[in-house]
Amino acid sequence: MARYKRMSKLYAPMLKEDPDEAVLASHKLLLRAGMIRRGAVGLYSYLPLAWRSIMKIENIIRDEMAKIDCQEMMTPILTDAELWKKSGRWNAYGPELMCLKDRYGHEYALGPTHEETYTDLVTNELKSYKQLPVMLYHIQDKFRDERRPRFGLMRSREFIMKDAYSFSANEESMRECYQLQKDAYASFCKRVGLKAVTVAADSGQIGGDTSVEFMAVADAGEAEICYCDACGYAADTEAGTGTIKVISDGEGDLEKVETPDCGTIEKLAEFLGVPTNATMKALALVAEDEQPYVLFVPGDHHLNDVKASHVFGNYYMMSDEEIKQYGLVKGFIGPVDISDKVKVYADESLKKAKYWICGGNEAGYHFRHAKQGRDFTIDNWADLVSVNEGDLCPKCGKPLKINRGIEVGQVFQLGTKYSEPMGATFTDEDGKEKPFQMGCYGIGVGRTLQAIVEQSHDEHGIIWPVSVAPYEVEVIPLDVKQGPVWDAAEKIASELAERDIDVLLDDRKERPGVKFNEADLIGFPYQIVCGKRGIKNGTVELKHRATGERKDVTLDEIVDTVVLPIEQQRT
Ligand code: ATP
Ligand code: MG
Repeated sequence: MARYKRMSKLYAPMLKEDPDEAVLASHKLLLRAGMIRRGAVGLYSYLPLAWRSIMKIENIIRDEMAKIDCQEMMTPILTDAELWKKSGRWNAYGPELMCLKDRYGHEYALGPTHEETYTDLVTNELKSYKQLPVMLYHIQDKFRDERRPRFGLMRSREFIMKDAYSFSANEESMRECYQLQKDAYASFCKRVGLKAVTVAADSGQIGGDTSVEFMAVADAGEAEICYCDACGYAADTEAGTGTIKVISDGEGDLEKVETPDCGTIEKLAEFLGVPTNATMKALALVAEDEQPYVLFVPGDHHLNDVKASHVFGNYYMMSDEEIKQYGLVKGFIGPVDISDKVKVYADESLKKAKYWICGGNEAGYHFRHAKQGRDFTIDNWADLVSVNEGDLCPKCGKPLKINRGIEVGQVFQLGTKYSEPMGATFTDEDGKEKPFQMGCYGIGVGRTLQAIVEQSHDEHGIIWPVSVAPYEVEVIPLDVKQGPVWDAAEKIASELAERDIDVLLDDRKERPGVKFNEADLIGFPYQIVCGKRGIKNGTVELKHRATGERKDVTLDEIVDTVVLPIEQQRT
């Protein structure tokens, strides 16, 4: 028979104060709520409450994988160095690989990921195209000797990962497997209550991406992303493009205006009484091949280092000395009659601005109404700047948002990257031996748990989505002595448990304030408070953690009142 859990027996050592070791809200809350504990740097234990949530997250993964016929199994964590040498990663993986020797001197690595293991596993077992495709996965501890383990479960040295591997006979089948996993990941994020966007992790070849990252949107994320709420477009700001609004200066003849002390865009815009995106910013750099360049970008945008290095290689910004040496005037560089010692590039967005406000190539002067084609020409155009909040979505034209993201999962098309060097082949329809076309698919289970908390908390504590809450309901009797209050609470808890609800009964002899605070700190989605006065009238108080809404519900109705929405939110 289903039973409720008694809080007095729960191992959840809570903390009154924010622990020093934590920076992120989610990390503090998981520690304070008695859910996780650190053993050593980057090593965490999941205490019973967190473990229940982890199990729920894992079971949602299992359900999604079953739907696409990806089979769960288990391999050893310890991996033979020979396999890593075969794939070429024994040296390539670097110091993150945690290596050890057995008593006979044989080398192993604690698996940071398992491409080698799975590729080896199917070699000489999956022999014919007729058996393909096959998708396999496990949920297992992974080890990475991270340079800077931090943020609790976000970046630890031992962590739980779901990793799946697909084996196909051809690229088309590989892409199908990839798409199935990608869709399953999107569904997974939704079901665990994460607001997540997918970001292309590669340059995005024609015909679609070959790897995407699933980013939970959160200020605490390590990556900066731009995304469109309207159509779902998202990209790393390093790789993303937005349509930039630039303002052309008014029509007119080229005019040199005195602009004293206007060496910066802000000062210039203020002096002329125009917005910053009506001005052009000039940047002077020296490319990898030692060619000096001047770049023009919209005044309100920043040069993007990644994009710039695509064009200029390993470049550096000119020193004041070099600026002079190349015939330029710091703070007043413009394209009109620019020094012929430099080549000129401009950001693509500036094509749209016919008339420019730009530097006058003379200290204290700028040009107005400098017309493209008439007063100057730009020979080279490129996408050079980072996306700003409010730039327009390249897909649908709505304003983009900028936020940070936590990578919770990633899917890859691998092709024959592992199968070829490791000699993992099958016999194809045409009788030829071919290497498998592979894909790999990872979700960080612990990182997902913490990302959920990072997205869903308030000043009082965690707000668990029902689907992953350690307990869905907490019943809080304000009197735990034998009597009507206790009896009612006990009855509600029993009935909920029988209806398959995960329920905790706070049977401790604690002050009501302590019970309420701790219920909010741990973050149970529904809290049922049984007090003397209410019970006398045949009611209890139901509190919804997410909205803070409280209402009195009769004893007859309370079970149905919470069971129904919980069942709906579990899916
Ligand atoms: P990152 O760029 O954050 O280091 P990664 O791209 O190296 O991660 P993958 O190899 O793609 O990570 O691993 C799959 C998933 O495992 C990641 O999306 C992430 O959720 C999780 N993960 C990776 N490293 C860690 C870690 N040190 N601690 C916790 N989870 C991790
Ligand atoms: Mg990754």
